[in-house]
Amino acid sequence: MTDTNNRQAQILAGLREILLELSGFDLHELDASASFLELGFDSLFLIQFSSSIKNELGVQVSFRQMIEETTSFPELAEYIDANLPADALPEIAQSVTVEQQVVEPAPVASAAVSAEVAPTPTAPAMPLPPAPAMMPPVVPMVPISAEAKTGLEGIMEQQLQLMAAQLAMLGGQPIATTQSALPVAPKMAPPPSAPAATSPNDQSAPTKPAPQKPAGGDEEFKPKSSHEMKPFGAIARIQIKKSEELSPQQQQWLDDFITRYNAMTAKSKAFTAEHLPHMADPRVVSGFKSKIKELIYPIVASRTQGCRIWDVDGNEFVDALNGFGSNFFGYAHPRITQAVVDQLWRGAEIGPQNPYTGDVAKTICKFTGMDRAAFCNTGSEAVMGAMRIARTVTGRKLIVIFNGAYHGIFDEVLVRGTPHLRSLPAAPGIMPSTVENVLVLDYGTDESLQIIRERAHELAAVMIEPIQSRRPEFRPREFLHEIRKITEESGTAFIFDEVITGFRMGPGGAQEFYGIQGDIGTYGKVIGGGMQIGVVAGKAKWMDALDGGPWQYGDDSVPEVGVTYFAGTFVRHPASIAACKAALEILTEEGPALQQRINAQTNYLVSELDNFFRDREVPLEINSFSSLWRMTYTETVPYGEILFFLIREKGVHIYDGFPCFLTMAHTDDDVEIILNAIKESVIELQEAGFLPLPAQEVAQADFFAIAN
Ligand code: PMP
Repeated sequence: MTDTNNRQAQILAGLREILLELSGFDLHELDASASFLELGFDSLFLIQFSSSIKNELGVQVSFRQMIEETTSFPELAEYIDANLPADALPEIAQSVTVEQQVVEPAPVASAAVSAEVAPTPTAPAMPLPPAPAMMPPVVPMVPISAEAKTGLEGIMEQQLQLMAAQLAMLGGQPIATTQSALPVAPKMAPPPSAPAATSPNDQSAPTKPAPQKPAGGDEEFKPKSSHEMKPFGAIARIQIKKSEELSPQQQQWLDDFITRYNAMTAKSKAFTAEHLPHMADPRVVSGFKSKIKELIYPIVASRTQGCRIWDVDGNEFVDALNGFGSNFFGYAHPRITQAVVDQLWRGAEIGPQNPYTGDVAKTICKFTGMDRAAFCNTGSEAVMGAMRIARTVTGRKLIVIFNGAYHGIFDEVLVRGTPHLRSLPAAPGIMPSTVENVLVLDYGTDESLQIIRERAHELAAVMIEPIQSRRPEFRPREFLHEIRKITEESGTAFIFDEVITGFRMGPGGAQEFYGIQGDIGTYGKVIGGGMQIGVVAGKAKWMDALDGGPWQYGDDSVPEVGVTYFAGTFVRHPASIAACKAALEILTEEGPALQQRINAQTNYLVSELDNFFRDREVPLEINSFSSLWRMTYTETVPYGEILFFLIREKGVHIYDGFPCFLTMAHTDDDVEIILNAIKESVIELQEAGFLPLPAQEVAQADFFAIAN
C-alpha cells in the first residue's frame, strides 16, 4: 500500500508537470480535488491533456473518460496507477523536484493508527533537492480520527486521506491534522466580477451606471481575469459529458420546444443529417450537448436581402448575427451586388492588375490615415502579414498581444497567455514552438505596460484588438496612448487589428476613436461589402517591406527596402475589389452620419435590453461598441444557450457566444422585432424554469400556492 501511495504521489507530480506544461497552471492555483470540468478544462484541453498523459506516462486515458469516469486529479492518478505495469515508475516523475519531497507520505506520528495502515515512508526513487524556504512547513500527519478504522475500510479511508493530503501538498499546502481539516487549495482565482459597464457606444449618452474608474483612467475598468480556461475564439464547443438533470417541468417544456423548433426548421435539420457524413464543419457541431442535440444544426439559408434571411423551410428571420460583422451594408445591397456582378461578367482575372485596385488602396489610405495598403483574402491573412512586416522591418522576433483578443486562425495567434507569462497553443495541433515568439499580456493593466516598457527593445510589435469584441465595454484609452509613446521611442510597430472596428465605429475606426495613429492597421469585414477581403495598411516605413518601396520610371531609382513574402493566388480578387470599391463609395457618400445612425440604433437596443434584464432580474447583461452588441450570462445558467434557439424560433437569427451587429439595413422596426424576440424568449425561459423568475413573481406564486 505504501508503494502504491508513493507511486500515486509520483503520478500526481507527473500530472502536475504536464498540466503546467500544457496550460501554464500550477496545482498551487487550483483546487486539486475539483473535477476537471469544475476547473474549467474544456474538451480541447482534455484532448491535449490525454495525449500528453499517453506520451509521458504511457497510459491511455481518453478525454471522454476524464469527463465521465476519472474526473479529477486524484481519480486520474489512481487510474493511471492501476494501469501502469506493477514495476513501472512514471518517467516524468524523475524530473519532479520540490513537491516530490513533500508528497512522500509523512511518518504517522500517532500510535493510534495501527501499524497496518500507517504509511511507511519509502526511499524516494530519486535524490531529492532541498525544499525551498518558501515551502510551507510540513506538519506531520496525525491520526485520521479518534476512532480510526481498521481493516479494509480503514485502509481505504487512510488512502483517501493520504491522497487528499498529497494533493494539498502538491498544491503547496501544509498537511492538516485531521481529515475534516484537510487543506483545500484555493480555487483558480475567479475573475473579478464584471464591472457594470457604460453604454459603450461612444457617440451617445451612457445607458448604464458609470463604472468605477481607476485613478487617471478614461473609460477604463478593471479588466477581468484573462487566464480562465474558456474555449478559445470560435473553436467548436462540444460537450459530451452527461449534461445536468432537468426538472420534469423543464424536460416537458424542452421536449415541446424541440418538437416545435424541429418542425419549423425540418429541412435545415434534414440537410445537416444528410451531409454530416461527408462535410466536416466545426460550426455545425458547435454547442453540442446530449440533451439538446436535436437542436444542433444551423439554419440553411435560401436567400438573404438587407437584414433578412429566408431559410429552406420558408421562415423569415431578422438577422442579428450579420455574417460575424461582415454584413454592414445589408445583404444583396443593390450597388455592391451590381458592382460584383458587373465585374464577374467582365471576368475574374487572377494575375493581371484590376483597374480598381489602385483607387481602392488610395481611398483606404484616406480613411485610415495610412500611406500604403495591400490586399489579401481574410482578416487572418492581414494580421499574419502585419506581424511579418513588423518582424522584417525591426529584425526582432517578439510580438506582444493581449489576453481576450482575437486575431484569426493561424497558429501563432491561437495562443493562450498564462499567469506566468508562458505562451501556450490554444488548440490541439499547434506546436508550442510556434507560439514562443508571442508574449500574451493582460489588456489595459499597469503590469503589462511595465513589461512592454522593459522589453520594448526586443519587441517587433505590440498588436491590439483595440476594442475586444468579446469585451466591448473595455476601452483602455490611456493604456493605449502609453503604448503609442513606448513603441514610438523603441521603434516597435504598433499594430491596430481593426478587422471588426475598421470603418464600423466611424470612418477612421478605432484609431480615430482613441486619437492614436498606429503604424499598421489590419482590416476586413465591413470594407469587403460582404465579400471576402483582408487589407493591411500602414505607414510607408512598414509597408515598403512588401515591395521595396516606391520607385520611378525614367531615372535610376530602385526599390530600396528589403522585402518579405506576401502573396496568394486570390489576393486582389476582382470581385472582392469591386465590392470594396462600391462599399467605399457608399461610406464616402454617407459620411460619418451613417455610422452615427447605426450606433444610435444600437444604443437604443442596448439600453432597452439592459433595463429589461434588470427588471426581469435575469443573469444576463448586454454590452456594445458602435454597432456591435453582445449578450452574455453573468453567471452559469445550465442550458442557458436554449435562449438563443428560442430567439431564432421567434424570428431573429442569432448564435450563442458570438457578437451581434446592426447594419445599415436594419430599420427601427427591425430593431423592435429583435427586442421583442429577445424579451419574449427571456420571459418564456423564466416561465419554463430555465431562468430565475423575478422575486416579486416568486412571492406571488408562493402566495397563491399557500392560498390554494
Ligand atoms: N482580427 C479580428 C479582430 C477579428 O475579429 C477577426 C475575425 N473575426 C480576424 C482578425 C480574422 O479575420 P478572418 O476571420 O477574416 O480571417
